[in-house]
Amino acid sequence: MPDRAQILADLTARVAELESERELTLRLAQTDSLTGLVNRGAFTAALCERLEAARARDGRLALFVVDLDRFKHLNDTLGHHAGDLFLAEVGERLLADAGPTELVARLGGDEFALISDDPDTARRADRLVAALTQPHAIYGRQVSPGASVGVAVFPDDAPDAGDLQRFADMALYRVKLQGGRRWSAFDAELRAENQHRRTLEAELRRAIPAGEIEPWFQPVVDSADGRIVGVEVLARWRHPEHGLMLPGAFVPIAEELDLIGRIDEAVFDAGCAYAAPWVEEGLIQAVSFNVSPRDLMDPSFSRKLIGRLAKTDLPATALTVEITETFLLRDLALSRRHIERLSAKGIRIALDDFGTGYSNLRALMHLPIQTVKLDRSLICDVAKDARVGKLVGSMLYAARSLGVRIVAEGVEEEAQAILLRAAGCERMQGYWFARPMPADQMADRLRESKAAAPRVFAEERPLRRARA
Ligand code: C2E
Ligand code: CA
Ligand code: CA
Repeated sequence: MPDRAQILADLTARVAELESERELTLRLAQTDSLTGLVNRGAFTAALCERLEAARARDGRLALFVVDLDRFKHLNDTLGHHAGDLFLAEVGERLLADAGPTELVARLGGDEFALISDDPDTARRADRLVAALTQPHAIYGRQVSPGASVGVAVFPDDAPDAGDLQRFADMALYRVKLQGGRRWSAFDAELRAENQHRRTLEAELRRAIPAGEIEPWFQPVVDSADGRIVGVEVLARWRHPEHGLMLPGAFVPIAEELDLIGRIDEAVFDAGCAYAAPWVEEGLIQAVSFNVSPRDLMDPSFSRKLIGRLAKTDLPATALTVEITETFLLRDLALSRRHIERLSAKGIRIALDDFGTGYSNLRALMHLPIQTVKLDRSLICDVAKDARVGKLVGSMLYAARSLGVRIVAEGVEEEAQAILLRAAGCERMQGYWFARPMPADQMADRLRESKAAAPRVFAEERPLRRARA
């Protein structure tokens, strides 16, 4: 029989073992496995703790958020392994450069952060950018993607961790827009922008249930004779003070605030209510709606949309959902699930803004996508630049051979329309035919065009605008 002392000793040893195991698990849970740096979760906790401490001693604390420039390019050209090596190297550099009281973290992807009590923020930021701009050899090649840095300071800029992070991110975003390879601090300009967004946020939350978001309609015409065959529904915000606002002024912020889903639903419900009778009367055959990539990340998106459609009078076969390529590539499995679920109901899928991203016609072969919308940026040069003309011509050719219909967007001049029609583009949309308009005008326009007898167009004859 082991004596009591033996049992106690064993027990103590076992407890110590368990504790070190737990410590290890805990450490692993807080560590980024690639770089060995603190990960995002642990970073947020550490930031709160350090802010508490700084507050207690009336101290200052600077938060630097770092984003590598052109990291994606490096990953794409040298491969993921090289990308990983580079990230690990960046982690090492940041760590080597950090003082004993500073904290370095990897927030994910090519994003890093530094919490510093260095009183000279500008000098510290210079050092940070310099450290990351040094070239580095990977597979015998010199690479220096460079880095952008955004800075916000407690308590001068922000009183808490949430604002501090947001403000540093805003500063970072601005540097990125300006080309990167620099640092930028949160300042009066960004503070004003933040204030503006705050106001907009409050107003947007109120506007959605108040019915201020309304659907407008832009005709899609048949290239053969210029007749309206469908409409694209576009969101407008009828703001009580600022008047009519375009999506560019509120869609990005709605996406950021996770309000875009509610906007898209409001536009969808109202848009269907207006357009279903037009389809029923045979005035148009197709109604297109835009969905945000953000909506599509929701695994139940397609099921919800089908449910909403069932509550309207619009037949599924008249509905087109416009999605962007960026989303397709972000999560191919989820995209496929949504697209197949919608297609099974007879809903059509259009790939929007084609020609701006990766323009992967191949993706189309493997997905039930029937329509591609050629982006305005291509169309606007189609008649001016022979190379663009050729490119669009070959895109049209490829699409046709895949059985995909092309809609040219942003047709503003007759010359473009004629060229596109000659190249075999079947559908067009743009200011030259008609601008987006409210529902009552659209209804008048459609009824007018029905009353007039359709004319057949000779190939060399100019296209008429969107009226019969
Ligand atoms: P989009 O889907 O590419 O829509 C086409 C945009 O081009 C519309 O801008 C339209 O007014 C504009 N446009 C059409 N023809 C021409 C032309 O000939 N020349 C020029 N310069 N522009 C033309 P809009 O209405 O400002 O919408 C901008 C973007 O906002 C849309 O781009 C779409 O991505 C997004 N959006 C619009 N409505 C919604 C919505 O209900 N939900 C979501 N998630 N996004 C929406
Ligand atoms: Ca669209
Ligand atoms: Ca588009």
